[in-house]
Parts: sequence; C-alpha cells; structure tokens
Amino acid sequence: MLKQLKEQMLYYGREMIARNLTTGSGGNLSVRAGDRIVITPSGMEYLAMTVADMVVCDGRGRVLEGDRRPSSELDFHLALYNHRSGIGAVVHTHSVFATTLACMHREIPPVHYLIGFAGPKVPLAPYATFGTPELARAITGTIGDSNAVLLANHGLVAVGGTLPAAFNVAEEIELVARIYYQTLVAGEPKILSREQVDEVMVKFKGYGQ
Ligand SMILES: [Zn+2]
Repeated sequence: MLKQLKEQMLYYGREMIARNLTTGSGGNLSVRAGDRIVITPSGMEYLAMTVADMVVCDGRGRVLEGDRRPSSELDFHLALYNHRSGIGAVVHTHSVFATTLACMHREIPPVHYLIGFAGPKVPLAPYATFGTPELARAITGTIGDSNAVLLANHGLVAVGGTLPAAFNVAEEIELVARIYYQTLVAGEPKILSREQVDEVMVKFKGYGQ
C-alpha cells in the first residue's frame, strides 16, 4: 500500500517537472495513508528521487520511515489534513501563472469554467515565510471548502481526495491562472456568474471514468 503510494508520488513529482508546474526541487507532494502521511523529501530534485527517498510521518510530523528529512512545508501539509477530513493528497507548486497572480495579490475569479475543479474562485492566503507555522495558519485560514489556494508571493496549493485528483486541480488551475493573466493583459476579462460556476461544479462531481 505505502509502496504503491510512494511510486505514485514519484510519478507525479516527475510530472510536475514534465508539465512545467515547478522546477528543480521546488514544490512538494504528500498523500494521506490512514493516520500516516507520505511526503516528498526536502530539497531534492524530482528527477533524482527514488521511492526510498519518500518520508513517512505520523499525524504530528514525526518521521516513522525514511532516511531523508521531510519537505520544509510539512507543517502546512499536516495542517490541511487536520483541517478537512476529505483531503487525501496535497500538491504544492510554484507554477508560473498562478504564482504571478499570487505576487499581484489577486484571487482567481471564475474567468473560465475549469475553475470549478477548485471551487467558485481560488482565494489568496496572506504572505508568510515558507516553512513556518504562520504559513500553515494562513493556508488553513483561507482555503475554506476550496480545492486550491494561492499563497501570496509564493505559489499554489491544490488538494484532492487522491493524488491524481489534487494534481489535476493544480494543472487545471495553472491553466485558468494563465488565461486570467492573459485576459488582464489584453483587456477586460468577462467573469462567469456564481450560478454558472455552481452548475459546472455539480457537473464536475459526476465527471470522469
Ligand atoms: Zn513553495
């Protein structure tokens, strides 16, 4: 079970690089497995990682398995799992367009229907230094029921019931962020109404295979 999850994390870590969602060792991933969480190691290039580098922690962040130090953002991963029981995986990226908006302190409004993978909008958590309990509090204090949150002057956090779901949110929200940025640069974005987005979110619940 844990081995399969570690392999899945390795796959999606590499996909974060392949799909331009992050660079080098930036960002991090975790998955909940019962009362444990598996998280990527701190400061390691995704392309150099193996399953043996993944770190297993308990709910308080004590390392149970693995020789590496866990990601420096372990605090906010744990805080998210404690915050909402439906969260089974967390994906954190520094994807360029989401991060651009986060550096402008802008939320992402429903400019494109794909925002519905996250919620009616993507909120913005106030700035706090990376790797601190303040950042964890800023994220849990902002995310609400959303599946994504921008971190001011930092990046994006996406959550889901499973790692493929959280990764999909990160990828779709980066696309929406890019579209929003481009519409701001080119002119006036036309924003969907709350009713229009609500209808999309209902359809997404039954979407997929
Ligand atoms: Zn980061």
